[in-house]
Formats: sequence, structure tokens, C-alpha cells
Amino acid sequence: MSAGIYIHIPFCKSRCSYCDFATDVYRNNDAVERYVNALITEITNQPKVKSQKSKVETIYFGGGTPSLLTANQLEKIINILHQTFSFTENLEFTLEMNPATVTLEKLQDFKNLGVNRASFGVQTFDDRALKLLARGHNADDARKTFELLRQANFENISFDLIAGLPNQTLQDWEDNLYKALDLNPEHLSLYLLEIHEATPLAEQIRSKRQPLPDEDLAAEMYELMLEKVAKSGYEQYEISNFSKPNYLSRHNSKYWLCEPVFAFGVSAHSFDGKTRWANERDTNKYVQLIESGKSPIVEKNELDEVQVAGEFAFLRLRLTKGLNLEEYKERFGIDLQAKYAEDLKHLKEAELIEFENSHLKLTKKGMVYSNEVFAVFI
Ligand code: SF4
Repeated sequence: MSAGIYIHIPFCKSRCSYCDFATDVYRNNDAVERYVNALITEITNQPKVKSQKSKVETIYFGGGTPSLLTANQLEKIINILHQTFSFTENLEFTLEMNPATVTLEKLQDFKNLGVNRASFGVQTFDDRALKLLARGHNADDARKTFELLRQANFENISFDLIAGLPNQTLQDWEDNLYKALDLNPEHLSLYLLEIHEATPLAEQIRSKRQPLPDEDLAAEMYELMLEKVAKSGYEQYEISNFSKPNYLSRHNSKYWLCEPVFAFGVSAHSFDGKTRWANERDTNKYVQLIESGKSPIVEKNELDEVQVAGEFAFLRLRLTKGLNLEEYKERFGIDLQAKYAEDLKHLKEAELIEFENSHLKLTKKGMVYSNEVFAVFI
């Protein structure tokens, strides 16, 4: 089975008000340089990962804002990856980018280094909402960066958009969708806003400076999105992900198919099919651990057969293909319908799941309330 590699680049131009990722505000190139050196040491020193035999078929630079790296820094990381792993021929190489963080020249350098997919954080085309989210760019910046990506011959671009923002109406969301579809990206990741406890946005909502987004309205936005996106030639393949034919994210699919992903950098999470492990979440501590010759891994969890079966079930359910019940029985020796008979009956009555050709799938409603279904298997 081929593997994926994830590299976390934690730096961002500023911090968005809803974000709870492991990120740091970009201060100067020295800090990035030091981090890149730590990353290279981590990749060089991981015996467990180096001893694995699978070829790598996807690389994903996520963050943070990986497009803040210089071409030189990116090249150094790529070189060490090539020295450490062997790659399949049709490598998918994604780099997350944010508007107004790249020039045409930089994009051409990235392309020459092998990046062949851009995951582009647009989030919304509404300037007022961008300000509320403290995104640090406006809608025009997003359009201009998209143009630059096309000029640099990026033929596989994914857009991230968020629905359910405070004060966002159904009409606003529809306008956003049309603006995204007008640009005709190959892939769309469309998320409903999640409010994370320790973020400025959560505080604004608690102190009633911003309204709590309405759950029913968010569900309507989700339904609208399914309808509009399907009409524009995109196929939904996962709860939040849509692609033109042959452009689904092979890297992200690895997570849903429980395939190995080796991750490096601060807060990076790896999985080799049996064990999950995670790195230190604080960038300074991560760098210090590596510089003092210690492992950055702070958590390791070997899954037993029951946990592997549970994860397999709920991750497959994220995919529109659903969970193949025969494959599940063959792999784990468990008759899922018998084992979870009572729970499945309730979920079916609530119209959250359906059975089709020996597959268990989420319904449209089940995709909005997927956590209620997943809870059965965790
Ligand atoms: S750009 Fe992305 S990772 Fe960076 S602060 Fe904003 S949401 Fe977080």
C-alpha cells in the first residue's frame, strides 16, 4: 500500500479569528529557517518511518501558510524527502496557499520544484466577512492570486470556502458559491464553520458581539451547496469535498481510507495502519526538542483491533461511496449490521443513514449531522 507524507508549516501572516490550528505569526525569515532545519533533522532521524517499505504517492504541505516558505526553503525540504523515501511516478504534490502570499515568480519556482496541486484558502468572497475573520486579505487578492496560479500553469487548484459565518444569509452563501464556481477550480472543499473554544471568534460570540451561527440555516446552506455544485459538473466524494472528474484529493483520501500517512513538523499526526503518533504542538518547544537531539513525539497510541475496526467504519462513512459491509466483514470478521443493530435502527429512523447494494451510507441529512452517526463507532 502506498503512503502519503504531510509536512506542517506553522507560519501565517496574521492569525485568523476562528483558527485553532498550530500556527505562529510570521516574524522573520530566521525563525522559518530554524524551523526548516529542525524539520530536516526530524525527517532524517525517524528510524520507524525510514524503515517502512511503502512507496510515497502524495506529499502535502499544510499549515499555517506553506506558501510563505521561500523556494529555497521548500527545495531543502524536498531534497531530504527524496533522499529518505522512494516515490511513485504519478506523485500528487499539494501545497496550501493563501491569497496575497505569492508572486508569479515564486509560483513558477514552486511548480519547477514539483508542486502540482494548489490548495487555496479563499474562505469567502465577502470583504466584510473576511475582515470579521481577520483573514488579512480581501476578495480581490483571492481573485488575483488565483489568476497568478493559472499563469504559472497550475492545472489542479482546490478552493476552500466556509459556510455558516456570523450574519451570513443563504443569499450571501449562494453568491459566494457562484463566485467560486465562476473561477472554475478543479476541486472544492466546502466547510461549515466550527467555533473553537479558545479563539477570538468564540469570545466575540460569548460576549454577544457576534451572533451564534444558526444550525438550521447552516443545514440549508449545505443542501444548497450540494445542489449548485453538482449542477456545475463537480462530483461530491466526501462530506465536504467535491471535484471535477479525476481531480479528487489523493492525499486526503488516504486519511479516509486508513492508509499510512507520515507527518513531520509541529503538531503533525502520523498513522502507519496500526499506530497513531503526534508531535509537540508548540513551535518553539518542537524546535528545541529537535535541536537538543530529542524526539518531538509527545503522544503514541497503538490501536487494538476494535479501535481499528471503529475508525475504518466511520472514516469510510465520510466518503459518499460509504462503507462496504462485505469488505468490513472480511477484514474484521464482524457483521456490522448485527453488532450495531439497535443503533443502526435509530439512525435509519432519523434518516441519517441508508443501505444500498451492501454499502452503508450517510444520507444528505446524515452528512450535516455526521457526528451523531460516527459516535456509534468510536
Ligand atoms: S491562514 Fe489558515 S492556518 Fe493561518 S491563521 Fe488563518 S486559518 Fe489559521
